[in-house]
Amino acid sequence: MTILDGKQTSQNIQSEIAAEVEQIKARGEKIPHLAAILVGTDGASQTYVGSKVKACARVGFESTLITLEADCTEAELLAEVDKLNTNDEIDGFIVQLPLPNHIDEQKVIEAVNPLKDVDGFHPSNVGKMALNLPCFLPATPYGILQLLERYKVETEGKHCVVIGRSHIVGSPMSILMARNSYPGNCTVTLTHSRTRNLSEITREADILVVALGKAEFLKADMIKDGAVVVDVGITRVDDPSKERGYRIAGDVDYEQVAPKCSFITPVPGGVGPMTIASLLMNTLQAAKGKVAVHG
Ligand code: NAD
Repeated sequence: MTILDGKQTSQNIQSEIAAEVEQIKARGEKIPHLAAILVGTDGASQTYVGSKVKACARVGFESTLITLEADCTEAELLAEVDKLNTNDEIDGFIVQLPLPNHIDEQKVIEAVNPLKDVDGFHPSNVGKMALNLPCFLPATPYGILQLLERYKVETEGKHCVVIGRSHIVGSPMSILMARNSYPGNCTVTLTHSRTRNLSEITREADILVVALGKAEFLKADMIKDGAVVVDVGITRVDDPSKERGYRIAGDVDYEQVAPKCSFITPVPGGVGPMTIASLLMNTLQAAKGKVAVHG
């Protein structure tokens, strides 16, 4: 069994990006600049945005964090989006989700200039992804593809089962793994909360991407020997033995499942760190003025 080490792989990618930024600086060209808009004071969102800003500093990017009050209006947020759309200093930007309930998330996503949409959430980028055209890929699926590629995991002709159909993970993962490219060329089954006989389907999987948000959901009797298991889940589980009172659990019962796998991602240290690396890769591509050709 091989651990797909997202922490190490993310560090490798960040070193590669940092080296490229050094070359950009040496040529006297503009340093890549990522901006993030954070609305409100949700703890998890603050942590995520904070780690993205820190990652920018590590690789030598410029970054700008714009914070808005939780009760800001949709119009105020859209005005900030518009400023970033037209500010030539900013190469790419993200609006940290989720947004407060009084703001129409889809409207905000669609207001972002697709050429600066380094989260890859704009319908224009989603459509291009489906057509295998150059675009920004959403960060978490892109990170998973990077992990599979860097560990040379075979995907062609394999049966890939994805659990969860969210717009940010499961659904794009199913599209990407079915594309005529590497990683890809899989026969894909996309499963969700209405799927019947899930275990029968997962036991047929050569590659399993588990993204449903239920701690330790996938058990050993749900997979076949030698499966590749990618665990996307991040759930806080109460744990009085920890100083902070909780631990982070994935969607996979790692202790049980890992011995049966050919490859598996741990949680933490698997998919999570790769998401940040992907955002930086997208930002670098945005700065270069051309959108990455993935596959
Ligand atoms: P979501 O809550 O938007 O969607 C969950 C999906 O799981 C839904 O499509 C639902 O139909 C499906 N589902 C629920 N119960 C199911 C069941 N019993 N059987 C089959 N399918 C079922 O989830 P999301 O935003 O994709 O996030 C999933 C998990 O991944 C969460 O734990 C989240 O925190 C984590 N996540 C991690 C990263 C990362 O960088 N590592 C990024 C995004 C999300």
